[in-house]
Amino acid sequence: MKIALLALTCAAAGAALAEADRVVVLQGARIIDGTGKAPQENSAIVLQGDRIAAIGPVGKVKVPKGARVVDVQGRTIMPGLINAHGHVGLVAGGKNSADAYTRENVLAALAQYEQYGVTSIMALGLNRDLGFEIRDEQRRGGVPGASLFLAGRGIGVPDAAPPVPVAPDQVYRPQTVEEAIKDVRETASHHPDMLKLWVDDIYGKFPKMKPEVFKAAIDEAHKNKIRVAAHVFYLADAKALIEAGVDALAHSIRDQPVDAELINLMKSKGTYYVPTFTVDESAFIFAEDAALTSDPMLTEAVPGESLQTWKGQEYKNKVANDANTPKIKAALATGMKNLKALQEAGVRIAFGTDSGAQPVRVPGWAEHHELELMVRAGLTPAQALAAATRGSAAMLGLKDRGTLEQGKRADFLVLDGDPLEDIRNTRDLVSIWHGGKEIKPRARAVATK
Ligand SMILES: [Zn+2]
Repeated sequence: MKIALLALTCAAAGAALAEADRVVVLQGARIIDGTGKAPQENSAIVLQGDRIAAIGPVGKVKVPKGARVVDVQGRTIMPGLINAHGHVGLVAGGKNSADAYTRENVLAALAQYEQYGVTSIMALGLNRDLGFEIRDEQRRGGVPGASLFLAGRGIGVPDAAPPVPVAPDQVYRPQTVEEAIKDVRETASHHPDMLKLWVDDIYGKFPKMKPEVFKAAIDEAHKNKIRVAAHVFYLADAKALIEAGVDALAHSIRDQPVDAELINLMKSKGTYYVPTFTVDESAFIFAEDAALTSDPMLTEAVPGESLQTWKGQEYKNKVANDANTPKIKAALATGMKNLKALQEAGVRIAFGTDSGAQPVRVPGWAEHHELELMVRAGLTPAQALAAATRGSAAMLGLKDRGTLEQGKRADFLVLDGDPLEDIRNTRDLVSIWHGGKEIKPRARAVATK
């Protein structure tokens, strides 16, 4: 028995060693390294364990003896997508529910993100403490799927935003400054990767968080060295939050055009902006665009019941007759103009979708669609990709990812087409490499003109 155990231990140690030493070389691709440099043709990337050991032109990069060589000629490699605003464990079986935050659902969401090329995800609020256990276990090597970052529960408003059916242990709703400080201290004890606040009246339906409450929460988070992202809608709230020191706006400003005052504030404070067009568009698009509900990238990502619902006349009527639908469309249009203005002004842009928050915000599919919407808003494909890679990495303070450089994590996508030519080519996934491990895409779709 003793001998058998010893043999097992040795075998396990051997496997771990093999993993760390495993060398893979991908040769011949065009590489968009994410640093902003022009794409490099006929390049090679050498992976050792979970890191990039070398990157450069074929012929100049040494191929280590015994390495597995993968031919990727004619393909394009870009950094893995980093979603700085998503969610896990809020939707189960195509519905929001207060008991969806289970280990099984969180792991399924992480697997789905990864299989669509989203290699890192910030679950921006509404997390049970179970999320921290899963995150910490993942960091010890025990949980597969997209790398999980967590904003814990987040600070909402009593009987108001966020209007999501979650359990009491998924969001704090302080009434007073003292309660807000206590809640931030409690969340800090779990070492969150960010703090989330909700400052919105949800189309006039609810009272907003009082400024003294969000100021206290931001101050207390910063005392604990935690960055803060805020759900916003209104320009005036965005300005008040930035003046109070918020580090990121987690949605578009959608009530009116951004102005010089906001731009100057964001630039002087270095505030990040995460547009999340998916939030607005998902409220109506599946009822209106039949091509989307038959997109193979989408059908592989949602339960059949959801697709049936969205294709049905009842759902189409509900969306058409909803008094908020025209307001949401106007908000989306304003948000798109604002992204273009902020990008041109040189504000720091990051990337998010709010996927996973509702059944219509589809993890994995939404991230590729969001890139397309950013380009429709007037960004170049290179600008949209920069936001979704190094922009998000910078917002989340992740120095080990977001660009493909020696020593960084081997998190990247191999694509059959060039996304700089057509942003929809991010969907044409050949393979996903996450921490040096090859992941098979769940679905891929060729861009059609
Ligand atoms: Zn959200």
